[in-house]
Amino acid sequence: AIDLSGDVAVVTGGASGIGREISVQFADAGADIVVADLREEPREGGTPTVERIRAETDSDAQFVECDVTEQGDRENVAKRAAEMGGADVLVNNAGIFRGEEFTEVSEAEFDQLMDVNVKGVFFVTQALIDQLLEDGGRVINLSSVAGLEGSGDFISYCTSKGAVRLMTYSLADKYGPEDVRVNAIHPGVIETAMVTEDVPIIGGESEAEFRQTVPLRQFGQPGDIADAALYLASDLSEYVNGESLVVDGGIAST
Ligand code: NAD
Repeated sequence: AIDLSGDVAVVTGGASGIGREISVQFADAGADIVVADLREEPREGGTPTVERIRAETDSDAQFVECDVTEQGDRENVAKRAAEMGGADVLVNNAGIFRGEEFTEVSEAEFDQLMDVNVKGVFFVTQALIDQLLEDGGRVINLSSVAGLEGSGDFISYCTSKGAVRLMTYSLADKYGPEDVRVNAIHPGVIETAMVTEDVPIIGGESEAEFRQTVPLRQFGQPGDIADAALYLASDLSEYVNGESLVVDGGIAST
């Protein structure tokens, strides 16, 4: 079994969806968790992540109210992680989706997408890098298949997730020599509020059509991404750095 005991992991966007499952699985593997999110309530409903972790595992879990676009909030996250012994793992998972038609995207909407999806990843990492450098760090960035392949349907989102991919490779280059590994996960369609509410792929009119684009003919679950994140956080991936791990049922390969 994967053992993360002794590690402190910071998970942005850890209240809901993929980040919530990553937080719970990391805690189950023994890590203490800092959940950094806008609010504690999961978008999909249910018990807040921190309460779930305390009930289901022996690990410590703390919630820090944090908007990744706010410097003061990022500093609070770093402070809390330091109090817990210092961050060993950072999962840059907080992200938003926008799917406006290219000619309809306003500058304000574009800025918001870049602020959360790109600047958020950049500056949360910057805020925690000293802690990550202390004792062999791992950074896991949530990109997307939309950050590997373009799509005319959501150009601004692809732009933001492509930036996360090259940020990942660049950070891997800079910090690999100092024993911080930086990798990206590229999920396909994963069943969370993002794809049931923000863009109704699941539950929408074209669900069956979308499913046909997935070679495995099913959508992913948050646990599928948490499994990949566990691998990248653990010693099983100790020689993996600057890598894109695609977890999409085969979408990107077709
Ligand atoms: P989600 O909307 O279910 O959860 C995202 C979480 O991030 C929420 O708890 C939200 O409050 C938080 N968040 C949003 N903006 C924030 C901010 N400014 N500061 C702090 N927290 C913030 O989404 P999800 O599906 O779990 O997505 C997680 C990540 O995976 C995102 O980066 C997303 O782009 C990426 N992703 C998701 C899918 C998918 O199909 N669900 C596919 C590819 C990539």
